[in-house]
Amino acid sequence: MVKLFKKQNLQNHNTSMSTAMTLHDLSVENLDIFCWCNNCGHNNVIGTKKIMDKLGKNYPVPKIGYKLRCRKCNNTDNISTRPNWPNHKGQLTRHM
Ligand SMILES: [Zn+2]
Repeated sequence: MVKLFKKQNLQNHNTSMSTAMTLHDLSVENLDIFCWCNNCGHNNVIGTKKIMDKLGKNYPVPKIGYKLRCRKCNNTDNISTRPNWPNHKGQLTRHM
């Protein structure tokens, strides 16, 4: 059994590229997690602290979806997550 597993830098030195936000980052920013089911469109906001207790503070936000289950359709592998930014109006403003 070979598992491809790239060790993430646990010490955040020089990781300016490819740094996914972690639960720790969210808790610092006081943001919760917005998640939605790509299967049925159900969405929800989860408290960051609750998830952090389970997954640890270094867990990357985009991967939280793998650990979630949709309450509506029981889907477990097609759930997206992102920080629940305040005042979001559909799309974030893009600076060109
Ligand atoms: Zn669903």
